[in-house]
Formats: sequence, structure tokens, C-alpha cells
Amino acid sequence: MHAQIAARLTAWHAGQLRALPWREGPAGTRDPYAVWVSEVMAQQTRVSVVVDYFNRWMARFPTVEQLARADQQEILKLWEGLGYYSRARNLHRAAQIVVVEFGGKLPRTRRELLSLPGIGAYTAGAILSLAFGLPEPILDGNAMRVISRLWDIGDPIELRSTQKRLWSQSRGLVEATARPGELNEGLMELGALLCRPRNPLCAECPLQHSCLAHERGVQDRRPVRSPRQKIPHVEAAAAVIWEGERNRSRFLISRRPEKGLLGGLWSFPNGAREEGDEDLSACVRRAVRQELDVDVSVGDKLATVAHAFTHFRMTLTAFHAQILAGSPQAADAEAWRWTTLEEIEEFPCPVPDRKIVGVLRDLARKETG
Ligand code: SF4
Repeated sequence: MHAQIAARLTAWHAGQLRALPWREGPAGTRDPYAVWVSEVMAQQTRVSVVVDYFNRWMARFPTVEQLARADQQEILKLWEGLGYYSRARNLHRAAQIVVVEFGGKLPRTRRELLSLPGIGAYTAGAILSLAFGLPEPILDGNAMRVISRLWDIGDPIELRSTQKRLWSQSRGLVEATARPGELNEGLMELGALLCRPRNPLCAECPLQHSCLAHERGVQDRRPVRSPRQKIPHVEAAAAVIWEGERNRSRFLISRRPEKGLLGGLWSFPNGAREEGDEDLSACVRRAVRQELDVDVSVGDKLATVAHAFTHFRMTLTAFHAQILAGSPQAADAEAWRWTTLEEIEEFPCPVPDRKIVGVLRDLARKETG
């Protein structure tokens, strides 16, 4: 069964390959660095969004060596808006290790690839098969859906035992072909284009006659997922601290600690509202004291912005603020700066802070226009 599915899948894939910038050359012969960057970017992000980021990244850091030498702030700036910033920091650290320990070339074994920061089983399989043409399996969300339908796997996919079964079928497929890169790419493409989460296009599918879920009419119920946990909602408050009471041209931003959410990015000092019903202005004063060891007076509300992170949703309310006395110190923050609406463009910032900058810009335009 594996050989038959593999043959149909690679034949189908050859006829409909989507042109993407990291797909220069046939699968199995591509630039390992480009495959690596594109696969890391595509985790949790739509391919249509990745293309521009990928092109900008490769224009700025065309080789592993150039990435290894780069300044982390510039890397985070290029990544701004893609989210899940540990991916960018890990790419940077892994590039430095590849230069020092592997002479600037990505290693060709699963074990060595897995030793690099940010490379997991999926990314290792993608690099080995797509760049080196080795028979190593992959399992992303699309491949998981296709395999659980082909073999009609009815257990929740989050279970370790189910993951084992899925990996083992994926390995069975890749070992049944002489073209492992095309096979893996075809598996993921079939999931993206035909075997979609809802309303799969089974009538057009080259694997229809080998698909158990289709035969049993249960494809819409595969894969099975454990009931979703409710996504938590965090309420937070931020301070736009102006340098002078009348002079609203410079405001303060602080750099978040390297380890933790949005590490290394610059934001308006902020904190999550404490359990209970802490007043939002009290929350701002507490957050600024913790980050910068300074007391502020909190003025008018500026804006409320909402953003969905991977594991929670956040509502962030920003207030105008003023330092009461003394000067800021980097306490919980790693650094701080006075900046302007023009200069802040140079700093990597999280999306909610960019939205606040947008509101400030609208205000400035109204005042001058
Ligand atoms: S027949 Fe339908 S459910 Fe089965 S693999 Fe093809 S598209 Fe997916």
C-alpha cells in the first residue's frame, strides 16, 4: 500500500507544483539554508505571508555565515510581525553553531540537526528530504491530516501513541519511493490543496482509491482532536511615558528580557492586570515601577488594542503618563530609551505596540493638520 500511495502522490505532485521562492531546483537538491529558513518561517504562519518575509531575509542574510554574524536586533526587526520570536532567536543561535561546529554547512544527519536550537523532528525531516534527498519522514499539520484519513486513524492526534503511528506511516511512505523530497512535499501539498480540513476534494484526489476514511465516509471526522482548552484572555495596561509635560515628542520604550515572551523586542512599559479587579491605572504604575524603578502619574487613556498570540488573547490599554521624579533604571527591563515616532521604526516591536504607535501617529497628524 505504501508503494502505491507514494507512486500516485509523486506523480500528482509533479503536475501541480506551486512556485515558491525556496523551491528553486527539484526537491532533493535545494539550498539547505533556504529550506531551513522557509520551514521555520512557515511554522504557525501562512505560506502567502511567508513569501515576502523570506525574500527580505534572504536578501539581507543570503548565507548561514552572514546570519551568524548578524546583530540580533536586526534579525528581530526583519522578523517583526511574524510572531513567535523565539524562532528568529533560535535561527540565529543555530547559525552560529553551524558555523563553529559544522564549518558553515548544515549537517546531514537527523541526530546532528536535532541538536541545533529550534530544529525539531519536522524541520529535520524537511531539510534532510527536500535539500539532501534522504528518505526521512516529515509530519506537519497537513501531512497529519492526510495520513490520519488514509489509514482512518480514529484516536486523538495529540496522543503520543497516535503520533507514533502517524510518524511510522510517514516513514513507510518515504521509504517506499526513490524521490523522498517530492513525496514529502506532495504529502503536504495534498493536505493544503485537496485534503483540506473541511470539505476535502476527494473527487479530485489521486489517493481516493487507497483512502480508508473516504471509503468509510468519515473523512470529515478525521483527524480526531481532544477537546480544545479555552484560550485564556489577558488584560494588560501600557504607559506612553512622555519626556516633558508639554513636549510630547519623545516617549519611553523598554527592551524585554531575552528569555520569555517577545524576548529582545522593544515595547511600551506594560504589565498584566492582577487577579481580582486591579484598577488599570494602578496596574500601569506597578508595571512601570517593576520594569524601570520609577514612579509615574497616569493621565488620559490613549487607546485599547487587541491581539491574539499563539496561546492567549490580549487586550492592552495604553495611557499617557509622566515621570513624577527621578530617572528610569533597567530593573526588570533589559534597557530603555527615549525615542520618537520616526526613530521607533528602527526598533523591533510586538504587534500591539505597533498598533499603539499607529494611534500616536494619527493623533500627531490631527494636531499638525
Ligand atoms: S480521498 Fe479525500 S480524505 Fe482521502 S486523502 Fe484524498 S482528499 Fe483526503
